[in-house]
Amino acid sequence: MNLRDYEGIAEPGDLRAIEHMAARLEGRKMLHVNSTAAGGGVAELLARMVPLFKGLGIDVRWEVMQADRPFFEATKNIHNSLQGQGAPLTKEMWDTYRIVNTENARRIDLDADFTVIHDPQPAMFIDYRKRGIWIWRCHIDISSPEPMTWHFLKDIVKNYEASVFSVASFAQSLPITQFLMQPTIDPLAEKNVQIEDEEVKAIYERLGVPLDKPVLLQVSRFDPFKDPIGVIEAYRLAKKYHDCCLVLAGGTATDDPEGEKVLAEVQEKAGGDPDIHILLLPPFSDREVNALQRGATIVLQKSTREGFGLVVAEALWKKKPVIAGDVGGIPLQVIEGLTGYLVHSVEGAAYRIRQLLENPELARRMGEAGREHIRRNFITTKNIRNYLGFWTALEKKEKVIYV
Ligand code: UDP
Repeated sequence: MNLRDYEGIAEPGDLRAIEHMAARLEGRKMLHVNSTAAGGGVAELLARMVPLFKGLGIDVRWEVMQADRPFFEATKNIHNSLQGQGAPLTKEMWDTYRIVNTENARRIDLDADFTVIHDPQPAMFIDYRKRGIWIWRCHIDISSPEPMTWHFLKDIVKNYEASVFSVASFAQSLPITQFLMQPTIDPLAEKNVQIEDEEVKAIYERLGVPLDKPVLLQVSRFDPFKDPIGVIEAYRLAKKYHDCCLVLAGGTATDDPEGEKVLAEVQEKAGGDPDIHILLLPPFSDREVNALQRGATIVLQKSTREGFGLVVAEALWKKKPVIAGDVGGIPLQVIEGLTGYLVHSVEGAAYRIRQLLENPELARRMGEAGREHIRRNFITTKNIRNYLGFWTALEKKEKVIYV
Protein backbone atom coordinates (compact mmCIF):
# COMPACT_ATOMS: atom_id res chain seq x y z
CA MET A 1 0.00 0.00 0.00
CA ASN A 2 1.48 3.29 -1.11
CA LEU A 3 0.70 6.87 -0.15
CA ARG A 4 0.99 7.99 -3.75
CA ASP A 5 -1.97 5.70 -4.63
CA TYR A 6 -4.07 8.48 -3.09
CA GLU A 7 -2.86 11.06 -5.58
CA GLY A 8 -5.84 12.56 -7.36
CA ILE A 9 -8.12 11.76 -4.42
CA ALA A 10 -6.43 13.17 -1.31
CA GLU A 11 -5.65 16.83 -0.81
CA PRO A 12 -2.09 17.38 -2.18
CA GLY A 13 -1.12 19.29 0.98
CA ASP A 14 -1.91 16.25 3.12
CA LEU A 15 0.32 14.00 1.01
CA ARG A 16 3.24 16.44 1.22
CA ALA A 17 2.84 16.90 4.98
CA ILE A 18 2.73 13.13 5.53
CA GLU A 19 5.89 12.52 3.50
CA HIS A 20 7.69 15.27 5.33
CA MET A 21 6.81 13.98 8.81
CA ALA A 22 7.23 10.30 7.91
CA ALA A 23 10.79 10.95 6.69
CA ARG A 24 11.61 12.20 10.19
CA LEU A 25 9.95 9.25 11.90
CA GLU A 26 11.23 6.50 9.58
CA GLY A 27 12.13 3.28 11.41
CA ARG A 28 10.54 4.46 14.65
CA LYS A 29 8.11 2.20 16.48
CA MET A 30 4.36 2.79 16.58
CA LEU A 31 1.86 0.57 18.39
CA HIS A 32 -1.94 0.47 18.21
CA VAL A 33 -4.00 -1.59 20.67
CA ASN A 34 -7.75 -2.24 20.55
CA SER A 35 -10.14 -4.97 21.57
CA THR A 36 -11.42 -6.58 18.38
CA ALA A 37 -9.81 -7.60 15.10
CA ALA A 38 -13.07 -7.29 13.16
CA GLY A 39 -16.44 -5.66 13.53
CA GLY A 40 -17.00 -2.01 14.28
CA GLY A 41 -15.30 1.16 13.22
CA VAL A 42 -12.00 0.90 15.10
CA ALA A 43 -10.98 -2.41 13.53
CA GLU A 44 -12.03 -0.97 10.19
CA LEU A 45 -9.78 2.06 10.62
CA LEU A 46 -6.77 0.13 11.85
CA ALA A 47 -6.97 -2.49 9.11
CA ARG A 48 -6.52 0.28 6.53
CA MET A 49 -4.08 2.56 8.34
CA VAL A 50 -1.54 0.03 9.54
CA PRO A 51 -0.35 -1.01 6.02
CA LEU A 52 -0.08 2.64 5.04
CA PHE A 53 2.10 3.46 8.04
CA LYS A 54 4.25 0.45 7.09
CA GLY A 55 4.54 1.74 3.54
CA LEU A 56 5.81 5.02 4.97
CA GLY A 57 8.67 3.23 6.75
CA ILE A 58 7.13 3.36 10.23
CA ASP A 59 7.72 0.20 12.26
CA VAL A 60 4.05 -0.22 13.19
CA ARG A 61 2.23 -3.01 15.03
CA TRP A 62 -1.48 -3.54 15.71
CA GLU A 63 -2.26 -5.70 18.76
CA VAL A 64 -5.68 -6.97 19.79
CA MET A 65 -6.69 -7.80 23.36
CA GLN A 66 -7.59 -11.39 24.21
CA ALA A 67 -10.54 -11.69 26.54
CA ASP A 68 -13.71 -13.61 27.14
CA ARG A 69 -17.34 -12.78 27.70
CA PRO A 70 -17.23 -11.42 31.30
CA PHE A 71 -14.65 -8.85 30.25
CA PHE A 72 -16.64 -7.76 27.20
CA GLU A 73 -19.80 -7.57 29.29
CA ALA A 74 -17.96 -5.28 31.69
CA THR A 75 -16.52 -3.13 28.91
CA LYS A 76 -19.86 -2.94 27.07
CA ASN A 77 -21.23 -1.64 30.35
CA ILE A 78 -18.41 0.92 30.50
CA HIS A 79 -19.15 1.85 26.89
CA ASN A 80 -22.89 2.25 27.53
CA SER A 81 -22.49 4.25 30.69
CA LEU A 82 -19.88 6.53 29.11
CA GLN A 83 -22.46 7.14 26.41
CA GLY A 84 -24.89 8.12 29.17
CA GLN A 85 -27.04 4.98 29.29
CA GLY A 86 -26.05 2.33 31.72
CA ALA A 87 -25.71 1.52 35.36
CA PRO A 88 -22.42 2.11 37.17
CA LEU A 89 -20.18 -0.94 37.13
CA THR A 90 -20.12 -3.45 39.95
CA LYS A 91 -16.92 -4.12 41.86
CA GLU A 92 -16.66 -7.55 40.16
CA MET A 93 -16.79 -5.87 36.77
CA TRP A 94 -14.00 -3.47 37.62
CA ASP A 95 -11.96 -6.37 38.99
CA THR A 96 -12.43 -8.29 35.73
CA TYR A 97 -11.45 -5.16 33.83
CA ARG A 98 -8.26 -4.77 35.85
CA ILE A 99 -7.25 -8.43 35.67
CA VAL A 100 -7.76 -8.74 31.91
CA ASN A 101 -5.90 -5.50 31.28
CA THR A 102 -2.99 -6.71 33.39
CA GLU A 103 -2.86 -10.11 31.62
CA ASN A 104 -2.94 -8.53 28.19
CA ALA A 105 -0.49 -5.77 28.99
CA ARG A 106 1.98 -8.42 30.17
CA ARG A 107 1.41 -10.61 27.10
CA ILE A 108 1.79 -7.84 24.51
CA ASP A 109 5.13 -6.27 23.69
CA LEU A 110 4.63 -2.62 24.69
CA ASP A 111 7.98 -1.38 23.44
CA ALA A 112 7.22 1.57 21.13
CA ASP A 113 8.01 5.23 20.59
CA PHE A 114 4.36 6.13 20.06
CA THR A 115 1.50 4.05 21.47
CA VAL A 116 -2.14 4.61 20.63
CA ILE A 117 -4.66 2.89 22.90
CA HIS A 118 -8.13 2.77 21.39
CA ASP A 119 -11.23 3.14 23.55
CA PRO A 120 -11.79 2.18 27.19
CA GLN A 121 -11.19 -1.58 26.89
CA PRO A 122 -7.35 -1.50 26.97
CA ALA A 123 -7.06 1.95 28.64
CA MET A 124 -5.35 0.51 31.72
CA PHE A 125 -2.37 -0.62 29.63
CA ILE A 126 -0.92 2.78 30.52
CA ASP A 127 -0.04 1.36 33.94
CA TYR A 128 2.43 -0.95 32.16
CA ARG A 129 4.08 1.67 29.97
CA LYS A 130 7.77 1.04 29.38
CA ARG A 131 8.66 4.13 27.42
CA GLY A 132 7.57 6.48 24.66
CA ILE A 133 4.57 8.68 24.14
CA TRP A 134 1.12 7.26 24.88
CA ILE A 135 -2.16 8.65 23.66
CA TRP A 136 -5.71 7.51 24.40
CA ARG A 137 -7.98 7.60 21.37
CA CYS A 138 -11.62 7.70 22.42
CA HIS A 139 -13.98 6.75 19.60
CA ILE A 140 -17.23 6.92 21.53
CA ASP A 141 -19.67 9.69 22.39
CA ILE A 142 -18.55 10.74 25.82
CA SER A 143 -20.36 14.07 26.01
CA SER A 144 -22.53 13.16 29.02
CA PRO A 145 -21.00 10.16 30.78
CA GLU A 146 -22.33 8.44 33.86
CA PRO A 147 -20.22 10.24 36.54
CA MET A 148 -18.86 7.24 38.45
CA THR A 149 -17.69 5.44 35.33
CA TRP A 150 -16.01 8.55 33.98
CA HIS A 151 -14.43 9.23 37.38
CA PHE A 152 -12.78 5.79 37.29
CA LEU A 153 -11.67 6.11 33.69
CA LYS A 154 -10.43 9.67 34.07
CA ASP A 155 -8.09 8.47 36.77
CA ILE A 156 -6.52 6.14 34.20
CA VAL A 157 -6.61 8.51 31.23
CA LYS A 158 -4.87 11.34 33.04
CA ASN A 159 -1.64 9.32 32.89
CA TYR A 160 -1.47 9.52 29.10
CA GLU A 161 0.33 12.33 27.26
CA ALA A 162 -2.79 13.19 25.34
CA SER A 163 -6.31 12.11 24.52
CA VAL A 164 -8.04 12.28 21.16
CA PHE A 165 -11.78 12.82 20.75
CA SER A 166 -13.86 12.86 17.56
CA VAL A 167 -16.07 15.82 18.37
CA ALA A 168 -15.35 18.98 20.38
CA SER A 169 -18.34 18.41 22.66
CA PHE A 170 -16.87 15.05 23.77
CA ALA A 171 -13.81 16.71 25.28
CA GLN A 172 -13.66 16.39 29.04
CA SER A 173 -11.88 18.27 31.73
CA LEU A 174 -8.52 16.50 31.77
CA PRO A 175 -5.08 17.63 32.86
CA ILE A 176 -3.52 16.41 29.57
CA THR A 177 -3.38 17.64 25.99
CA GLN A 178 -6.57 16.96 24.05
CA PHE A 179 -6.63 16.59 20.29
CA LEU A 180 -9.62 16.69 18.03
CA MET A 181 -9.64 14.29 15.08
CA GLN A 182 -12.35 12.48 13.17
CA PRO A 183 -12.09 8.93 11.89
CA THR A 184 -11.80 8.47 8.16
CA ILE A 185 -12.70 6.01 5.42
CA ASP A 186 -10.38 4.56 2.85
CA PRO A 187 -11.55 5.17 -0.73
CA LEU A 188 -9.22 2.40 -1.95
CA ALA A 189 -10.53 -0.25 0.43
CA GLU A 190 -12.65 -3.15 -0.78
CA LYS A 191 -15.54 -1.52 1.06
CA ASN A 192 -15.32 1.73 -0.86
CA VAL A 193 -13.76 1.09 -4.28
CA GLN A 194 -15.90 1.62 -7.34
CA ILE A 195 -17.80 -1.49 -8.36
CA GLU A 196 -19.92 -1.99 -11.45
CA ASP A 197 -23.73 -1.99 -11.41
CA GLU A 198 -23.75 -5.60 -12.62
CA GLU A 199 -21.86 -6.74 -9.55
CA VAL A 200 -24.07 -4.66 -7.26
CA LYS A 201 -27.12 -6.39 -8.75
CA ALA A 202 -25.52 -9.81 -8.43
CA ILE A 203 -24.71 -9.24 -4.76
CA TYR A 204 -28.23 -8.02 -4.02
CA GLU A 205 -29.57 -11.14 -5.72
CA ARG A 206 -27.25 -13.38 -3.75
CA LEU A 207 -28.35 -11.73 -0.50
CA GLY A 208 -32.00 -12.25 -1.46
CA VAL A 209 -32.97 -8.59 -1.78
CA PRO A 210 -34.94 -7.78 -4.96
CA LEU A 211 -34.13 -4.44 -6.55
CA ASP A 212 -37.68 -3.86 -7.80
CA LYS A 213 -38.43 -0.96 -5.42
CA PRO A 214 -36.42 1.77 -3.71
CA VAL A 215 -34.10 0.46 -1.02
CA LEU A 216 -33.68 2.07 2.40
CA LEU A 217 -30.53 0.77 4.07
CA GLN A 218 -28.97 0.87 7.50
CA VAL A 219 -25.68 -0.97 8.00
CA SER A 220 -24.82 -1.26 11.69
CA ARG A 221 -23.98 -3.59 14.48
CA PHE A 222 -27.22 -4.62 16.23
CA ASP A 223 -26.86 -2.12 19.04
CA PRO A 224 -29.62 -0.16 20.83
CA PHE A 225 -27.76 3.13 20.21
CA LYS A 226 -28.07 2.54 16.44
CA ASP A 227 -31.87 2.44 16.93
CA PRO A 228 -32.76 -0.32 14.43
CA ILE A 229 -36.26 -0.44 15.95
CA GLY A 230 -36.74 3.26 15.17
CA VAL A 231 -35.59 2.58 11.61
CA ILE A 232 -38.31 -0.05 11.17
CA GLU A 233 -40.92 2.35 12.55
CA ALA A 234 -39.80 5.15 10.21
CA TYR A 235 -39.85 2.77 7.23
CA ARG A 236 -43.43 1.71 8.13
CA LEU A 237 -44.62 5.32 8.29
CA ALA A 238 -42.95 6.23 4.99
CA LYS A 239 -44.20 3.08 3.27
CA LYS A 240 -47.81 4.19 3.73
CA TYR A 241 -47.10 6.81 1.08
CA HIS A 242 -44.28 5.39 -1.01
CA ASP A 243 -43.56 1.72 -1.69
CA CYS A 244 -40.04 0.77 -0.65
CA CYS A 245 -38.09 -1.96 1.09
CA LEU A 246 -35.80 -1.84 4.11
CA VAL A 247 -32.46 -3.57 4.50
CA LEU A 248 -30.96 -3.81 7.96
CA ALA A 249 -27.50 -5.26 7.53
CA GLY A 250 -25.31 -5.96 10.50
CA GLY A 251 -22.80 -8.30 11.87
CA THR A 252 -21.49 -9.05 15.29
CA ALA A 253 -18.31 -7.81 16.91
CA THR A 254 -16.40 -10.03 19.29
CA ASP A 255 -16.30 -7.22 21.86
CA ASP A 256 -20.09 -6.66 21.70
CA PRO A 257 -22.10 -9.27 23.64
CA GLU A 258 -25.40 -7.35 23.27
CA GLY A 259 -25.81 -8.02 19.56
CA GLU A 260 -27.86 -11.23 19.73
CA LYS A 261 -30.47 -9.74 22.04
CA VAL A 262 -30.95 -6.66 19.88
CA LEU A 263 -31.12 -8.81 16.74
CA ALA A 264 -33.91 -10.89 18.28
CA GLU A 265 -35.85 -7.69 19.08
CA VAL A 266 -35.37 -6.45 15.53
CA GLN A 267 -36.58 -9.76 14.08
CA GLU A 268 -39.67 -9.62 16.24
CA LYS A 269 -40.39 -6.03 15.28
CA ALA A 270 -40.02 -6.88 11.57
CA GLY A 271 -42.77 -9.42 12.12
CA GLY A 272 -42.30 -11.31 8.87
CA ASP A 273 -42.72 -8.26 6.60
CA PRO A 274 -41.39 -9.56 3.23
CA ASP A 275 -40.04 -6.09 2.44
CA ILE A 276 -37.80 -5.99 5.50
CA HIS A 277 -34.54 -7.80 4.91
CA ILE A 278 -32.43 -8.45 7.98
CA LEU A 279 -28.99 -9.54 6.84
CA LEU A 280 -26.50 -11.02 9.24
CA LEU A 281 -23.21 -10.46 7.51
CA PRO A 282 -20.13 -12.44 8.49
CA PRO A 283 -16.98 -10.45 9.34
CA PHE A 284 -15.04 -9.17 6.35
CA SER A 285 -18.14 -8.77 4.16
CA ASP A 286 -16.66 -5.60 2.73
CA ARG A 287 -17.63 -6.20 -0.88
CA GLU A 288 -21.21 -6.93 0.24
CA VAL A 289 -21.41 -3.75 2.34
CA ASN A 290 -20.00 -1.79 -0.59
CA ALA A 291 -22.62 -3.21 -2.95
CA LEU A 292 -25.46 -2.74 -0.46
CA GLN A 293 -24.54 0.91 -0.03
CA ARG A 294 -24.23 1.44 -3.79
CA GLY A 295 -27.57 -0.20 -4.50
CA ALA A 296 -29.44 1.76 -1.83
CA THR A 297 -31.70 4.68 -2.68
CA ILE A 298 -31.35 6.29 0.74
CA VAL A 299 -29.01 5.39 3.57
CA LEU A 300 -30.22 5.75 7.15
CA GLN A 301 -28.20 5.97 10.35
CA LYS A 302 -30.78 6.69 12.98
CA SER A 303 -28.34 6.57 15.90
CA THR A 304 -29.25 8.05 19.26
CA ARG A 305 -25.56 8.15 20.26
CA GLU A 306 -22.67 7.92 17.85
CA GLY A 307 -18.93 8.43 18.14
CA PHE A 308 -18.49 9.34 14.50
CA GLY A 309 -20.41 6.90 12.34
CA LEU A 310 -18.07 5.61 9.65
CA VAL A 311 -21.03 4.13 7.80
CA VAL A 312 -22.28 7.65 7.16
CA ALA A 313 -19.00 8.59 5.48
CA GLU A 314 -19.05 5.33 3.49
CA ALA A 315 -22.52 6.07 2.17
CA LEU A 316 -21.82 9.71 1.35
CA TRP A 317 -18.67 8.66 -0.49
CA LYS A 318 -20.91 6.48 -2.67
CA LYS A 319 -23.10 9.48 -3.44
CA LYS A 320 -26.01 8.43 -1.28
CA PRO A 321 -28.11 10.98 0.62
CA VAL A 322 -28.05 10.10 4.32
CA ILE A 323 -30.85 10.57 6.85
CA ALA A 324 -29.30 10.29 10.28
CA GLY A 325 -29.60 11.07 13.97
CA ASP A 326 -28.31 14.48 15.00
CA VAL A 327 -25.76 13.07 17.42
CA GLY A 328 -22.02 12.71 17.94
CA GLY A 329 -19.95 13.01 14.78
CA ILE A 330 -22.89 12.67 12.41
CA PRO A 331 -23.54 16.43 11.97
CA LEU A 332 -19.94 16.84 10.84
CA GLN A 333 -20.82 14.63 7.89
CA VAL A 334 -24.51 15.17 7.26
CA ILE A 335 -24.85 18.84 6.49
CA GLU A 336 -28.54 19.62 6.82
CA GLY A 337 -30.16 19.95 3.42
CA LEU A 338 -26.85 19.67 1.59
CA THR A 339 -25.56 16.10 2.05
CA GLY A 340 -28.63 14.70 3.83
CA TYR A 341 -30.95 15.37 6.72
CA LEU A 342 -30.50 15.27 10.47
CA VAL A 343 -33.44 13.82 12.36
CA HIS A 344 -34.60 13.70 15.97
CA SER A 345 -37.57 11.33 15.84
CA VAL A 346 -39.16 8.44 13.97
CA GLU A 347 -41.64 10.87 12.41
CA GLY A 348 -38.84 13.19 11.32
CA ALA A 349 -36.98 10.31 9.68
CA ALA A 350 -40.15 9.13 7.91
CA TYR A 351 -40.85 12.65 6.63
CA ARG A 352 -37.36 12.97 5.15
CA ILE A 353 -37.54 9.47 3.63
CA ARG A 354 -40.73 10.45 1.82
CA GLN A 355 -39.25 13.75 0.71
CA LEU A 356 -36.21 12.08 -0.85
CA LEU A 357 -38.15 9.20 -2.39
CA GLU A 358 -40.38 11.74 -4.08
CA ASN A 359 -37.50 13.89 -5.28
CA PRO A 360 -34.77 11.80 -6.94
CA GLU A 361 -33.05 14.89 -8.36
CA LEU A 362 -32.60 16.30 -4.85
CA ALA A 363 -31.26 12.93 -3.70
CA ARG A 364 -28.78 12.93 -6.60
CA ARG A 365 -27.52 16.46 -5.81
CA MET A 366 -27.08 15.58 -2.15
CA GLY A 367 -25.12 12.49 -3.10
CA GLU A 368 -22.71 14.53 -5.25
CA ALA A 369 -22.18 17.05 -2.46
CA GLY A 370 -21.72 14.25 0.05
CA ARG A 371 -18.93 12.61 -1.87
CA GLU A 372 -16.96 15.84 -2.19
CA HIS A 373 -17.45 16.62 1.50
CA ILE A 374 -16.00 13.24 2.46
CA ARG A 375 -13.14 13.51 -0.04
CA ARG A 376 -12.02 16.81 1.40
CA ASN A 377 -12.34 15.97 5.07
CA PHE A 378 -12.69 12.33 5.95
CA ILE A 379 -10.39 10.06 4.00
CA THR A 380 -7.54 7.97 5.40
CA THR A 381 -4.78 10.37 4.52
CA LYS A 382 -6.26 12.94 6.95
CA ASN A 383 -5.89 10.48 9.84
CA ILE A 384 -2.37 9.48 8.81
CA ARG A 385 -1.42 13.15 8.72
CA ASN A 386 -2.99 13.78 12.12
CA TYR A 387 -1.35 10.83 13.87
CA LEU A 388 2.06 11.79 12.56
CA GLY A 389 1.31 15.38 13.56
CA PHE A 390 0.36 14.39 17.12
CA TRP A 391 3.48 12.26 17.43
CA THR A 392 5.71 15.05 16.17
CA ALA A 393 4.02 17.70 18.31
CA LEU A 394 4.14 15.64 21.49
CA GLU A 395 7.81 14.82 21.00
CA LYS A 396 8.47 18.50 20.61
CA LYS A 397 6.21 19.12 23.60
CA GLU A 398 4.09 21.53 21.59
CA LYS A 399 0.63 22.26 22.92
CA VAL A 400 -1.33 22.30 19.70
CA ILE A 401 -4.82 21.35 18.72
CA TYR A 402 -5.21 19.64 15.36
CA VAL A 403 -8.60 19.63 13.73
N1 UDP B 1 -19.75 -2.87 9.34
C1 UDP B 1 -19.56 -4.01 8.57
N2 UDP B 1 -20.46 -5.02 8.64
C2 UDP B 1 -21.55 -4.93 9.43
C3 UDP B 1 -21.76 -3.76 10.22
C4 UDP B 1 -20.83 -2.75 10.15
O1 UDP B 1 -18.58 -4.14 7.84
O2 UDP B 1 -22.32 -5.86 9.47
C5 UDP B 1 -18.76 -1.81 9.26
C6 UDP B 1 -19.29 -0.55 8.63
O3 UDP B 1 -19.26 -0.61 7.22
C7 UDP B 1 -18.33 0.48 9.23
C8 UDP B 1 -18.03 -0.09 10.60
O4 UDP B 1 -18.32 -1.47 10.55
O5 UDP B 1 -17.14 0.52 8.48
C9 UDP B 1 -18.92 0.55 11.66
O6 UDP B 1 -18.36 1.77 12.04
P1 UDP B 1 -19.24 2.91 12.69
O7 UDP B 1 -18.31 4.01 13.08
O8 UDP B 1 -20.36 3.28 11.78
O9 UDP B 1 -19.92 2.23 13.97
P2 UDP B 1 -19.34 1.42 15.24
O10 UDP B 1 -19.70 -0.01 14.97
O11 UDP B 1 -17.88 1.64 15.33
O12 UDP B 1 -20.13 1.97 16.40
